[in-house]
Amino acid sequence: MRLLLSDQLQVLNPATEEVVATVPAATAADVDAAVVRAAKAQAGWAALAPGERARLLRRFAVAVDEHLEELAQLEVREAGHTVGNARWEAGNVRDLLDYAAGGVERLTGRQIPVPGGLDITILEPLGVVGVIAPWNFPMPIAAWGTAPALAAGNAVLLKPAETTPLTALRLAELALEAGLPEGLLQVLPGHGPVTGNALVEHPGVAKIVFTGSTAVGKQVLAKGSALLKRVTLELGGKSPNIVFADADLEAAAQAAPMSFLDNSGQDCCARTRILVQRSAYDRFLELLAPAIEAVRVGDPSDEATDMGPLISRTQLDRVRSYVDPDAAGIRGKAPEGPGFWFPPTVLTGVDPHARVAVEEVFGPVAVILPFEDEADAVALANSTDYGLSGSIWTRDVGRALRVSQAVHAGNLSVNSHSSVRYWTPFGGFKQSGIGRELGPDALTAFTETKNVFISTEGSAQ
Ligand code: NAD
Repeated sequence: MRLLLSDQLQVLNPATEEVVATVPAATAADVDAAVVRAAKAQAGWAALAPGERARLLRRFAVAVDEHLEELAQLEVREAGHTVGNARWEAGNVRDLLDYAAGGVERLTGRQIPVPGGLDITILEPLGVVGVIAPWNFPMPIAAWGTAPALAAGNAVLLKPAETTPLTALRLAELALEAGLPEGLLQVLPGHGPVTGNALVEHPGVAKIVFTGSTAVGKQVLAKGSALLKRVTLELGGKSPNIVFADADLEAAAQAAPMSFLDNSGQDCCARTRILVQRSAYDRFLELLAPAIEAVRVGDPSDEATDMGPLISRTQLDRVRSYVDPDAAGIRGKAPEGPGFWFPPTVLTGVDPHARVAVEEVFGPVAVILPFEDEADAVALANSTDYGLSGSIWTRDVGRALRVSQAVHAGNLSVNSHSSVRYWTPFGGFKQSGIGRELGPDALTAFTETKNVFISTEGSAQ
């Protein structure tokens, strides 16, 4: 994305650098007007019978399903995602809407035993919710916040990232076609410091769901807290992939490449620190090298492609700044010419405190570090400021459980690299975030709990 005029966003195809679209950027005044429309729509939405809200959300899910290929192709063009990933992402939006729709009629309060009457809690919608999304997974991350917020009776103002507004805009059209009220889901493409900031500072926006960098997340929290706004933050990561010598090394080496190369490494959960027990280190490297070299990097619209380009020139420059071209390691291949390409890279012999070993690169780059024993593995795993995800490869169940308890991260996976599933809670420890999204409690996070006591002892009480 390059700014043409201060009020225009230019969307580029990251694989070709061709202009895909130019989109007007929303101003602070646009945000003000959108909040007014959203508040009006929200009142009507919250007043609908829960079953009716659920039905409309299911229709929205069906509309997404019917346009899955169109949405996927749009994501390939604006974000350079491989077509296989993009189809999964559009399907994930459908599933998130379906899952949230199932919660509408089950969003129950409690009845609490108290003396002198009956006490009940009511889960009320917050009102207007702002969802600020990053460019790395434009569709799923927009839906993580949007689907449960709508299901719980809120209106949503969605601000996509500057580089990737197109799928969000299309989703809002599909919501209207499915019968969701006008104004209930509005997309406000724009610049973070203008449009995003206006949402954060607007007193009419009750909650901000922010996914993005830790640096911006801290600003959002500081500004939101001035208004006592509810804020959840899904931020960066530098996740470990811990491989013990007793693991199925073949399986671990086979799975390691895509655990940090998927989406060209632009994944907050990317396992970019491969920690391998020293006694298995050489064998693991032998197995890893051909697996990295086998990754097919190229045209994201080709079904056979495993990895596409980075999102932008800025991101390419950022990734390059972390990797010395002469550094030792394993390297795959990437196309030359137009597009923002960087080859799969695993660096060996890196100081565990080096920038590339502790900072989030957000590109197809991992470091591989040896460790001695379980305590050493845990210390190394915990030696970053982040705490989002991680994987543990071992055949020893007790060790898998001990290490899962000892690693300071919100989402761990044993003998796999799973992180984000809409059925289960997701979020970070430490500098990786605040709050949880997804899972069975997703709707509750978009409600305010009201407690009502009803006296059974007459009106004088
Ligand atoms: P970013 O922080 O630059 O931008 C994220 C969003 O915030 C964009 O929509 C941007 O326009 C907006 N923004 C920027 N400045 C703002 C401001 N002052 N006020 C309000 N909004 C503002 O992040 P990015 O580069 O788009 O995304 C990559 C980052 O997101 C990585 O650090 C990655 O780890 C993180 N991420 C985290 C998760 C998670 O769930 N933990 C998921 C995906 C991405």
